[in-house]
Amino acid sequence: DALPPFRNQPTADFARAENREAMAEALRKVDRELGKSYPLLINGEAVETPGRVIESLDPSRTSRIVGRTASAGAEHAEAAVASALAASADWAGKPAAERAGVIVRAAAILRERRFELAAWEVYECGKPWREAVGDVAEAIDFCEFYAREMIRLAEPRRRDVPGETNACEHIARGVAVVIPPWNFPLAIPCGMTVAPLVAGNTVILKPAEQSSVIAWKLVEILREAGVPDGVLHYLPGRGEEVGQALVHHRDVDLISFTGSRDVGLLINRQAAETPAGQSHVKRVIAEMGGKNAILVDEDADLDEAVVGVIESAFGYAGQKCSACSRVIVLEGIYDAFLARLVEAGKAVVVGTAAEPETFVGPVIDADARKRILEYRRLAAAEGRVALDSDVSELVDRGWFVGPMIVADVRPDSRIAQEEIFGPLLAVIKAKDLTEALAIANGAPYALTGGVYSRSPVSIDRVRRDFRVGNLYINRTITGALVDRQPFGGFKLSGMGSKAGGSEYLLEFLLTRCVTENT
Ligand code: GLU
Repeated sequence: DALPPFRNQPTADFARAENREAMAEALRKVDRELGKSYPLLINGEAVETPGRVIESLDPSRTSRIVGRTASAGAEHAEAAVASALAASADWAGKPAAERAGVIVRAAAILRERRFELAAWEVYECGKPWREAVGDVAEAIDFCEFYAREMIRLAEPRRRDVPGETNACEHIARGVAVVIPPWNFPLAIPCGMTVAPLVAGNTVILKPAEQSSVIAWKLVEILREAGVPDGVLHYLPGRGEEVGQALVHHRDVDLISFTGSRDVGLLINRQAAETPAGQSHVKRVIAEMGGKNAILVDEDADLDEAVVGVIESAFGYAGQKCSACSRVIVLEGIYDAFLARLVEAGKAVVVGTAAEPETFVGPVIDADARKRILEYRRLAAAEGRVALDSDVSELVDRGWFVGPMIVADVRPDSRIAQEEIFGPLLAVIKAKDLTEALAIANGAPYALTGGVYSRSPVSIDRVRRDFRVGNLYINRTITGALVDRQPFGGFKLSGMGSKAGGSEYLLEFLLTRCVTENT
């Protein structure tokens, strides 16, 4: 049967008591399930790695172990690739509609378990409630969207002329290695996994160490939906070990990575090699960082601009590659905007992720906290600290860093050029829109960007000249929706693929054209 048209999954509204109660109940339920152990999954079989485990802690309360997963090494990569290769022909040979059916079933299970999965995100990744349910909704969207896109792409493109038929069809590439980040712990791994799967590839999922337990839940759900044993493997582990073994493997056809720029560029370099016995060129999809800016024009609606910048900069403690880390404000409105921004920043509620009123939770781990604290120290030298929230009551419990706003930052300073991935916002003054755009485009990344303005002329100008993958006018620059706002950037932010967009599945497919002389 034909699927109904795609519709974005509505996120749960916590203004409604029944949703608040459902989330609180899910948190209680998941709390009782914390601390369990999870094996690797290779060819449908649980594999333990005695003496080698990854411990996943709750960033809001680091004494709490969310779970322990096995930690794969090179030998497990070898076994998983062999199994994935063996399963490839069969999976690719199934009708696209059948694979799409499996993925739509997975969406139904995700929907059914959405509060529970959101609760896992709260504990494992410190996601505040609203962000957590939003992430689960996006995972559902990826399944529903890519399933429909694959059905569309499976239709051969025909160009028949008298005496000759021509049909172009898409075929799977083979074995895909998927290396997602922890910051959208269900949605991104889910989208990155189901896209190659529905396209007919087999997948080895190497989750981020910080979100290995949620990734297990995803694998469990996909298998329950009908993904066969050899088609999806779960290999948590250290990037330097299992990740490297997978990237170098000669039977891997494609590597899809989302994460830091350094790792993305490294994978891209390594994947370019063709080791002995490899008779193809590996395909790499790398989605990397951002240094995203919002421009505030002189005639901007300040109420909206302040709220939009706060939300974009500090949502999930700034740990989104779409987050706003620079706000570029025109001279005439600079002081007024800054004063209001700082007032709004003071009102941001910092707390543990399980508390419903928390807006800024902890950062993901000790390393992240250390890195952000170093940038905070640098901020005092590179600008004027206008807001420095006090989180001293929380730091004994977890990896907390308070939001910081730094004014009068020079555009070429480090805090205005380097991706910090934390709640630190640099405010930069520009004398006019031309200068503001030059500053905005003057970073090595091009992921998201935004402008607040009431002037059609300014808006047109920004629309034309602000070179980013996702440009937002008079709204937040985070929270792209599947299908409506295909997400991804260029320059050092990425290679131009768009998650949640129509062209995305083509990254996982080859095209074959068959001509018959009739
Ligand atoms: N798609 C997310 C957004 O629009 C960001 C994804 C990421 O951080 O990788 O906010």
